[in-house]
Amino acid sequence: MGKTFNPEFTHRTNEDGTLHSYCSRCFATVADSASRADLDTAELAHKCDPRLLEMVDKYRQISRLRSVA
Ligand SMILES: [Zn+2]
Repeated sequence: MGKTFNPEFTHRTNEDGTLHSYCSRCFATVADSASRADLDTAELAHKCDPRLLEMVDKYRQISRLRSVA
């Protein structure tokens, strides 16, 4: 197996230089760490919370309605 790449996680660099990873499906924060390896570990362990996914879905629907109005 090669390098694991998880397109569902978005990375950002915090102001203090640490890395921030969040799930682009449920928007939960997965990890804040200076180490890329720590992010990888946390991302592998992450499971989307179905309740969060539901909330995100509803929010997206509301945003869509607002942008149309
Ligand atoms: Zn998630």
